[in-house]
Amino acid sequence: MRGAFRNSKDLLDYLNLPNTGNFIENEFSTLVTKSFANRMKNTYDDPLLRQVLPDVKERNAHSAFVEDPLNEFSTSNKNSPNILQKYQKRALLITSNACAINCRYCFRRHFPYKLHRPKNIEQAIFEIGLDSSISEIILSGGDPLILDDEGLQAIFQQIDNIKTIKTIRIHTRLPIVLPQRISEGLIHTLACTDKKLVVVVHVNHPNELDHETKRAFDCLKNSGAWLLNQSVLLKGVNDDAQILIDLSNKLFDQGVLPYYLHLPDKVAKTMHFFVDTKKGQRIHKKMQANLPGYLLPNLIKEIPGQPSKTIISA
Ligand SMILES: *Cc1c(COP(=O)(O)O)cnc(C)c1O
Ligand code: SF4
Repeated sequence: MRGAFRNSKDLLDYLNLPNTGNFIENEFSTLVTKSFANRMKNTYDDPLLRQVLPDVKERNAHSAFVEDPLNEFSTSNKNSPNILQKYQKRALLITSNACAINCRYCFRRHFPYKLHRPKNIEQAIFEIGLDSSISEIILSGGDPLILDDEGLQAIFQQIDNIKTIKTIRIHTRLPIVLPQRISEGLIHTLACTDKKLVVVVHVNHPNELDHETKRAFDCLKNSGAWLLNQSVLLKGVNDDAQILIDLSNKLFDQGVLPYYLHLPDKVAKTMHFFVDTKKGQRIHKKMQANLPGYLLPNLIKEIPGQPSKTIISA
């Protein structure tokens, strides 16, 4: 992380791009790993650059685009504010408040991590263990793999002792933006658990995948994890059926199955990425006509208060 870009100017200099002034630093700081930047082309239209450069368009405001469209700020457990449980049988644990990259469209970019401080993870896992209806624990954040190997090992050991938990799921973007993080120590921790293991990665565009991500995925697979991918449908990045068809095929080449394609949430400062449901359905239909069923992600939307994510059909 020491080599990561922490302001747009350094990133643009690295890409040899002229400073157009069409970007602004704001409270959600620029953060991009060198590894991710190395997969960008030297143009402002680059789909990877677009995901991380703070465009002046973040100033665009509309009353429908709010800080907490999913009502997450209040969906928390009194004793352990770092547990988010919206659905039956699955509890999500905020294990870290940081990521290795700051995606401008992030639905948790305004999340009050200060109030949901992941400091007492032990207490939170203990609470989850008390509720025998919960069979799956989702490590999320932030990015759980930002924790060091020891921290993760402690979490895994504690969960291993809870009989009612059958599955540990990790939601992470690290294998893509910092593939070096998939270390021997981490693989050892994953390989040692008796629980079923699911790793859901986050890739939006085929250019994000290269030999480094392939190596990281191979290591995760060898530890016994199922690998799935979720993407967000983003204007100017991947709002095109052919790009998403290529993405599904490339993910499969690298041993990952597409899981969810999220319609973007109406998050403040992300209006310039918005794709509406109709357009999403048109794109999804074309994907369906060009992919085997097992490479077609579910097109979904999160509607607050619903008992699950909502599948949008064509
Ligand atoms: C999305 C989400 C899940 C996982 O839902 P799946 O449909 O099982 O992938 C669990 N908990 C929370 C709080 C979520 O937002
Ligand atoms: S990796 Fe995920 S949680 Fe982190 S900034 Fe990107 S979208 Fe948000």
